[in-house]
Amino acid sequence: MRAILELENVSLSYHTLEGEILALQDINLQVMPEEFISIVGPSGCGKSTLLSLIAGLLKPSKGTIRLDGVPITGTTQQVGYMLQQDYLFEWRTILDNALLGLEVLRKRTPENIEKVKQMLVDYGLGGFEKYYPQQLSGGMRQRVALIRTLAMEPKVFLLDEPFSALDYQNRLAVGAEVVKILREQKKTVIMVTHDIPEAISMANRVLVFTKRPGRIKSEHIVTLNANGCNPLACRESPEFSRYYTKIWKELNSDE
Ligand code: ADP
Ligand code: MG
Repeated sequence: MRAILELENVSLSYHTLEGEILALQDINLQVMPEEFISIVGPSGCGKSTLLSLIAGLLKPSKGTIRLDGVPITGTTQQVGYMLQQDYLFEWRTILDNALLGLEVLRKRTPENIEKVKQMLVDYGLGGFEKYYPQQLSGGMRQRVALIRTLAMEPKVFLLDEPFSALDYQNRLAVGAEVVKILREQKKTVIMVTHDIPEAISMANRVLVFTKRPGRIKSEHIVTLNANGCNPLACRESPEFSRYYTKIWKELNSDE
């Protein structure tokens, strides 16, 4: 099988008034179709920068990023990006929020409206079409944001600390739900999180980054999810704590 996403010697420097800041250095990564990769690393190590590069919002200072073999030169519908905040517009209904991505692409067609309505039903938001975001719980809002991105049918899904605005209980439940949906939809996912259990319970592979300039310090193949195990059940598995200890040590050791 061929990698869907390839990063080859990718570095990124920010140019500021105080000079250059090397945020990421020599990142090499191959992501296979339907893989779920979690990235953990110290704050400021370049995790969000990496996602912005893959989303085509930033251009690498060095190196190349290829999607399906083609270098990424700007934003593309093939890559969906979901952030910590849901960025729902309070004055738009749930349906209109879920349609926003398609609307921007000038694809608010009757068929697409039906498609999105069905997605709202499928993902437990049937009957909420005409509600406004403030009438929904945090978890429901995050699901609307997910549907908005899914509706554009991206191949690669980028998640930047997507659950950190939720409280612990909701985080677990919403996280499990989102993973289920992304697996069903056969998406390739890269998720940044500062929560090690979350990283392990969802991913096939966890990457640990060094502090800035961010480099890949270690890689951990997680086999817990191999048989499609639910993230909540994964956390109960005896192997889980072994992964946790190993990754925690990596994260807290100086190189
Ligand atoms: P993380 O998401 O891992 O916390 P970021 O990717 O947001 O880290 O940032 C990596 C480093 O680059 C940080 O030290 C940050 O201060 C710096 N940085 C991020 N964005 C910019 C910018 N637009 N201009 C200058 N420096 C930036
Ligand atoms: Mg960040």
